[in-house]
Amino acid sequence: MKKHNFSAGPCILPETVFQEASQAILDYNNSGLSILEISHRSKDFVDVMEEARSLSLELLGLENKGYKALFLQGGASLEFLMVAYNLLEKKAAYLNTGTWADKAIKEAKLFGEVDVVASSENRNFNYIPKKYTVPEDADYFHCTSNNTIFGTQMKRFPKTSVPMVCDMSSDIFSREMDFSKFDLIYAGAQKNMGPAGTTLVIIKEDILGKVSRKIPAMLNYKSHIDKDSMYNTPAVYAVYISLLNLRWLKAQGGISGIEEKNKKKAQLIYSEIDINPLFKGFAAEEDRSKMNATFNLVKDSLKERFDKSWKDAGINGLTGHRSVGGYRASMYNALPLESVQILVDVMSDLERKA
Ligand code: PMP
Repeated sequence: MKKHNFSAGPCILPETVFQEASQAILDYNNSGLSILEISHRSKDFVDVMEEARSLSLELLGLENKGYKALFLQGGASLEFLMVAYNLLEKKAAYLNTGTWADKAIKEAKLFGEVDVVASSENRNFNYIPKKYTVPEDADYFHCTSNNTIFGTQMKRFPKTSVPMVCDMSSDIFSREMDFSKFDLIYAGAQKNMGPAGTTLVIIKEDILGKVSRKIPAMLNYKSHIDKDSMYNTPAVYAVYISLLNLRWLKAQGGISGIEEKNKKKAQLIYSEIDINPLFKGFAAEEDRSKMNATFNLVKDSLKERFDKSWKDAGINGLTGHRSVGGYRASMYNALPLESVQILVDVMSDLERKA
């Protein structure tokens, strides 16, 4: 039986995507060849890459606005480094909203001065700092739109004239936004877009070429742009599965269509967390993430019973990250509302029988 998969990433993808992706391993497009054995320079794969790049821009509303989409490797973690390598000349501004932002800050410090404009570390990152200003002499401002571990999500972004860089690894393609506010967006595919192995980078070309250092070719965004994201052999299968997922998203009505579903799922889980006296939400209410809901049991003594109940109900991946503890329900685009209902039923059942 298929599990209700609340895993934080790699995570659930649509069933139809798994079916199409399996078929492509056996025989891609009736070519008599597997997608895994064709050249990345063949027309079959170049078409995949081009459609994946253009569909990403289309879904984000960024076509014909000076942006390029790249499918790179090295995860979002390599982008922590590449962003600074390519953009940091003197000073950059960073917002520290948790583990991933902190890692991005550490990498940027290798390249120049880092001004941490605000941090929510004082409350174990359970909220998004609000009152801060971005210095106008910064080379760029970096933030993390959704904090996968802590279950917080930025609902507003600062107004600034400096380029905006955003790590959207865990909420890209999940909610509508004016994406043209950002000059560089990156996201490891494995949370809301596809399998592990590729990272989507959306970049406004005119922010490049402003640093004086020499940049190694593989770490230089320009090399990848100039070669249409084929500077070296791309992660062929990961890009293909991402494309299938992007096509699926378009068929769901694009980002606005999926956002409606994501809102319903988030409402369902948070209303249970709020009315059920056995549970307490971790993230500050106004900053709650619609992708990752973090919560704790009020009494530790109920842990064994609760854990057994959700596992018996066919739920997978609910254990919280070790730096927060408790539980985390990750509700990415492909997770059906019914799965959230099953979890809510287990939670309310625990209260009834407690
Ligand atoms: N940023 C965020 C917001 C993440 O959730 C993660 C992965 N958990 C990363 C960056 C790191 O991604 P990767 O493992 O692809 O390097």
